[in-house]
Amino acid sequence: MTDTAEATPTAKKERWAFQWKELHEEVISSGLCTGCAGCVISCPHDVIGYKHEPGAYKPFHLEEELGPDNCGHGEKGCTSCTRACPRFRSWETEADEHLFGRTRNADEMSGIYKDILLVRAKDDGVYEKGQDGGLVSAILIWCLENNIIDGALVSVLEGGSGWKAAPGVATNAAEVLAGAGSRYTYSANTIAYDEARERGLENLALVGMSCQTSIAPVMWHRKVGKVSKPIKLNIGLLCSKSFDDSMFEELFKVKYGIAAEDIVKMNIKGVFQIWTKDGGYHEINLKECHAWTREGCNHCPDFAAEHADISTGGIGNETDWTLTIVRTELGRAIMDAMISDGVVETRPGDDDPAAIALMHKLAAKSRSRWPQWANGEAAVGLPTKK
Ligand SMILES: Cc1cc2nc3c(=O)[nH]c(=O)nc-3n(C[C@H](O)[C@H](O)[C@H](O)COP(=O)(O)OP(=O)(O)OC[C@H]3O[C@@H](n4cnc5c(N)ncnc54)[C@H](O)[C@@H]3O)c2cc1C
Ligand code: SF4
Ligand code: SF4
Repeated sequence: MTDTAEATPTAKKERWAFQWKELHEEVISSGLCTGCAGCVISCPHDVIGYKHEPGAYKPFHLEEELGPDNCGHGEKGCTSCTRACPRFRSWETEADEHLFGRTRNADEMSGIYKDILLVRAKDDGVYEKGQDGGLVSAILIWCLENNIIDGALVSVLEGGSGWKAAPGVATNAAEVLAGAGSRYTYSANTIAYDEARERGLENLALVGMSCQTSIAPVMWHRKVGKVSKPIKLNIGLLCSKSFDDSMFEELFKVKYGIAAEDIVKMNIKGVFQIWTKDGGYHEINLKECHAWTREGCNHCPDFAAEHADISTGGIGNETDWTLTIVRTELGRAIMDAMISDGVVETRPGDDDPAAIALMHKLAAKSRSRWPQWANGEAAVGLPTKK
């Protein structure tokens, strides 16, 4: 600057004064809320409740003085819930900046990543229990055994069996494997955070669908320090939707005569695949399942779990391998160490180009669900709607 030039006034950064009132109006009532429960675990006053129930999976305010859409603590300056919400305002670019030091380019539909691999667990027990290649379980077990984490927030089976997914904490290989495999109904694994902290666990991995994997990075970026600090590792599950639990009864049972208690495994590979105890195998057209799409998924723009350290899926031709998207330095360090310890087998992602192409296609498809009236960042790269 020359000494004659006028100093440009620096734009004053807007003070973050947004509380439950704004969260309720802009995210919950508007339909952007995925039910990820980031706001619930962030609340220092414990006034955000959560219904982990079929047809619900939404947060609500527990105090009634100011009605369901305002918060007395918020009126006094508390802003934790909006700081934790991965659908509030510029969530995508903030999480990108925090993790990668830049925002994604228009052609990065599946988010920013370093490597794509096909991976499977070498341990037969882990591989058998796993949904695809068993990588997620292998990572958790390896990180627990190597003291990188002391607990993982995962999905377990409510009551220990059946198909009702519930959030839970795993601290050893047996507990990890008890929750292995996919349920396609919702499980807000984040909710297990309080149990983990009460048990004195300090270094956690969070396993979750795309909507849950953006929680920790937005918290880190928006400085919800105390709550976000224990979440050390973020493992994402690729996801285009989850289904309401009523689909078991209303579609599988009523139309196809398949009782939930008879199902031994489910997967989605272009069709809904169901294996039953009697050795039966059933395929149900995904179009038939659409009516049971969980409400929180309707506007979700993130297929590829773009803010995880490692994102995992099972698309493409190599369905018994986990399609693995390594995004961060931490994710790469963990994968490298697991490979050199011999706990996983890997192949280049390029062995299955169809899987990578499909991931980008499904990522664009999910982004197209993001409403035009919402913050436009999640739609960057999509053709302009007429
Ligand atoms: C609702 C849902 C939708 C998905 N949609 C797709 C998709 O469209 N395309 C695709 O390629 N992949 C999808 N996946 C991911 C895929 O099913 C596998 O989870 C992923 O490939 C990892 O496989 P793995 O064998 O490595 O995992 P595993 O070793 O079997 O570990 C799976 C982990 O997922 C957790 N988990 C299981 N069910 C749930 C749940 N309902 N909510 C939260 N956590 C859960 C378990 O606790 C476990 O830790 C989806 C997963 C879920 C849960
Ligand atoms: S998207 Fe998650 S953090 Fe945001 S309001 Fe919904 S449950 Fe809370
Ligand atoms: S589509 Fe998947 S990632 Fe998105 S809100 Fe639904 S469960 Fe979450």
